[in-house]
Amino acid sequence: MIPFLNLKAINQRYEAEFQKSFQTFLDSGYYILGNQVKLFEGNFARYCGTTHCIGVGNGLDALRLILEGYKILGKLKENDEVLVASNTYIATILAIKQAGLKPVLVEADLETYNFDLTALKKSISEKTKVIMPVHLYGQLSPMEEILKISKENNLLVIEDAAQAHGAKNKAGKFAGNIGDAAGFSFYPTKNLGALGDGGAVTTNNDALAEVIRKLRNYGTSTKYVNEFLGFNSRLDELQAAFLNIKLPTLDADNEIRRTIAKNYISEISNDKIVLPEYDGNENHVFHLFVVRVKNRNTFIDHLDRNSIGHLIHYPIPPHKQQALSDFSHLSFPNAEKIHNEIISIPMSPVMTEEEVERVISVLNSY
Ligand SMILES: *Cc1c(COP(=O)(O)O)cnc(C)c1O
Repeated sequence: MIPFLNLKAINQRYEAEFQKSFQTFLDSGYYILGNQVKLFEGNFARYCGTTHCIGVGNGLDALRLILEGYKILGKLKENDEVLVASNTYIATILAIKQAGLKPVLVEADLETYNFDLTALKKSISEKTKVIMPVHLYGQLSPMEEILKISKENNLLVIEDAAQAHGAKNKAGKFAGNIGDAAGFSFYPTKNLGALGDGGAVTTNNDALAEVIRKLRNYGTSTKYVNEFLGFNSRLDELQAAFLNIKLPTLDADNEIRRTIAKNYISEISNDKIVLPEYDGNENHVFHLFVVRVKNRNTFIDHLDRNSIGHLIHYPIPPHKQQALSDFSHLSFPNAEKIHNEIISIPMSPVMTEEEVERVISVLNSY
């Protein structure tokens, strides 16, 4: 059996260091917003190239707190419109709704699975205030074009970088340092994953960073003095300790993912399988390796018979979810096609060469 993702094997590589850091954590007697969170915020800001990183509870909150922060700063208000891809994970849309803003879904591009730029431009209205690109599956959105559109229309750009830790553009700028602010998730399956929930905001905006730092902790900077109606969304101290151990090997892990992806792309040759578009650059960190097939159930049977793990990211587009029934009248042919045809095959930094070869041969024999 080749598992879709062997999280245990991923984390066992750091077992001795994890255990040592747990003992230090236990002995410290200090369990919330301590030295490990502070250390991680410095490390991750330096990694992304931003002046600020604020550790928060999860990726959903990271995105929400950015929007809440801009509301406090007077840059956004209730019902402002946020442009977001119609094929994203629902968290992106929930963050916008929970912050009292209005998600405007935009058609997806069939080659990159990011925004269709023509549709993006057409979706801009008087009320549009934010573009929220999602670097889906680990591939940077077309940020140059998005930044140009945002400048022309005076819009904020907030990156959903939850799947793209370490992705870089041609100029060497990292995901999280390209827009005005970015939200990251450290959910265990992400390229940089904790052993529980975790998230972070990165930004170069001093005022925004200061507000979010307060918002994540009940709206306080001084204990028991509440400046804003805040939240409880702090990056956990122990998770921060684990992330400090894992961050130094993120680039090496991403390089392994890219090598596997290149292997898949050059060796899988089957008219029935549409492979991802990839130019070989570091703009993709292959959080997921997503292919498209016409008769997905038949393909899934073939994978099951050959004991190859698989998942669908995601089987139902947001506008067809019961939870978002107010969007059900909308139609996005590309997003719907994507959701009907995509399937993710095994991809992780702990796959062996034999496993990669086996996946290739099973896909070629379909
Ligand atoms: C994982 C993910 C999130 C949410 O992160 P959580 O830590 O689970 O809250 C948001 N957006 C995208 C694209 C994600 O993949």
